[in-house]
Amino acid sequence: MRTSQYILATLKETPSDAEIISHQLMLRAGMIRKLASGLYTWLPSGLKVLRNVEKIVREEMDNAGAIEMLMPVIQPADLWQESGRWEQFGPELLRITDRNNRPFALGPTHEEVITDFVRKEINSYKQLPITLYQVQTKVRDEVRPRFGVMRAREFTMKDAYSFHLSEECLTQTYQRMHQAYCNIFERLGLDYRPVLADTGSIGGSLSHEFHVLAESGEDAIAFSDASDYAANIEKAEALAPKTERAAPSKELNSFATPEAKTIAELKANHGVKPHRGVKTLIVYGAADENERRGLVALIVRGDHDLNELKAQSHDLVHSPLEMAKEQDIISAIGARPGSLGPVGLNMPVIVDHSAAVMADFVAGANKDGEHYSGINWGRDVTDYVVADIRNVVEGDPSPCGNGSLHIKRGVEVGHIFQLGTKYSESMNAGVLGESGKNQMMSMGCYGIGVSRIVAAAIEQNNDDYGIKWPLALAPFSLAIVPMNMHKSHRIPEIANNLYSEFKKAGIDILFDDRKERPGVMFNDMELLGVPYTLVIGERNLDNNQVELKNRRTGEKRMFSIDDAVTEIC
Ligand code: ATP
Ligand code: MG
Ligand code: MG
Ligand code: MG
Repeated sequence: MRTSQYILATLKETPSDAEIISHQLMLRAGMIRKLASGLYTWLPSGLKVLRNVEKIVREEMDNAGAIEMLMPVIQPADLWQESGRWEQFGPELLRITDRNNRPFALGPTHEEVITDFVRKEINSYKQLPITLYQVQTKVRDEVRPRFGVMRAREFTMKDAYSFHLSEECLTQTYQRMHQAYCNIFERLGLDYRPVLADTGSIGGSLSHEFHVLAESGEDAIAFSDASDYAANIEKAEALAPKTERAAPSKELNSFATPEAKTIAELKANHGVKPHRGVKTLIVYGAADENERRGLVALIVRGDHDLNELKAQSHDLVHSPLEMAKEQDIISAIGARPGSLGPVGLNMPVIVDHSAAVMADFVAGANKDGEHYSGINWGRDVTDYVVADIRNVVEGDPSPCGNGSLHIKRGVEVGHIFQLGTKYSESMNAGVLGESGKNQMMSMGCYGIGVSRIVAAAIEQNNDDYGIKWPLALAPFSLAIVPMNMHKSHRIPEIANNLYSEFKKAGIDILFDDRKERPGVMFNDMELLGVPYTLVIGERNLDNNQVELKNRRTGEKRMFSIDDAVTEIC
């Protein structure tokens, strides 16, 4: 590809509404553009990376025996009513009606559709087990779309579903999928961890999340330093040995912030002292008429049982004392009366161990139109909350009995579930069993956030100059940068020749044939993260040589022009 015929779309400035590095770099490197909140256009180089991820995911799914298919994005409401999730899913499910006023949903996931397909097509135990997958657009009306494609409202997911006659068979496939996921993340060159997760509202018996380790991650994961034990923070909390805790104190400290403030200001003005036994942070948000969100936090001091607090929290914040404060808060942030409540969550309260939720809240604290600010404050508070989680969990021995627990931040890039018969029972998906009787199928589901992986990979592979793609993900493996091409006769000739030869050799190559200063070209190739750059300059040509630069290591090597293609390919 020649840059003169391409759309490079690189930006010099960091866009002000991009808070985390991957979002900034994806915009600056010309990989994505925002259409509207949580909706992104993939530009050609971004799309190439996305396709690279898809390719690896498909290969490993195929290797694991899964079969690809494709289901519609638009799903009839009656399937969701059958499973009971039409009610349960809440506002994240984007609902539409057709011209005949029939209700539909834009699929956030496809358990209902696949179960409907399988109950119609699979009738006998002889056709089981089977694992089907697709790579498809998912739609979720996220309460706070942010971080670019990391949390988008439309995104690409690989979702696989397996069907079995027995739980043992499900377990086998689950293990095979677990291994396939490990293979995928290895091949993507990512530092990742599979962790135990709660099955939560999805139900089922076993679940793992796959997290790419990154400081900007919205989740916290806990793992042992001396065993394989690893769990997400909610699961770690649930598994942690219970210690005696004092009863919750009623001593509350509350404050309202019309705008995001720094933790320093919080400390100064509200006496918030991190690491001083503050165990629980309860966060409330409120929205004014324009849906601008303010942040309200109630800090509960002392050592509390989190579950007990959760149960009591509704009463706590609605006690007369707190109602008065609620009034103050409402006038302080100009909130709509009665609107005070946790932002976007159908829960009365959020407690501190959900660092992800904290980050969400705080980042959205100064929501101005579609731009979020206050991320620094968010990070500070989140760090502070994570420090607090450490007080609760770390030190505690690992539930497996080996070593102690450590906490790290992660980006959830994959999630697998043993669902059991949850969907097959509610949707009556049975097969003729060996005994001749109808038998419910056991089911597993396995999701990977394909588009999120692109962002997560950038979180782990960047420097001051831009993205440092691992070869497997790079939009181009090699760039040719001819220096001052228009001032020379031999440079364009050699560059054009090499370009054709590399193309012939099957190398995905970007030929920077713009009439730009070398500095501009180098900057763009580094920003875009092309792993290798072949520099063609007058001085080296005098010795019949070209220079190859490695983006990741910075290492430079000289080749004779005649050997360049064979040496590099
Ligand atoms: P999260 O906790 O981040 O909201 P989730 O648990 O709701 O994710 P799953 O239902 O487990 O997501 O979906 C499978 C995968 O899809 C996730 O592990 C994640 O990688 C990806 N994913 C989920 N929501 C989004 C989103 N809004 N944007 C991009 N990828 C997403
Ligand atoms: Mg979600
Ligand atoms: Mg999750
Ligand atoms: Mg999940």
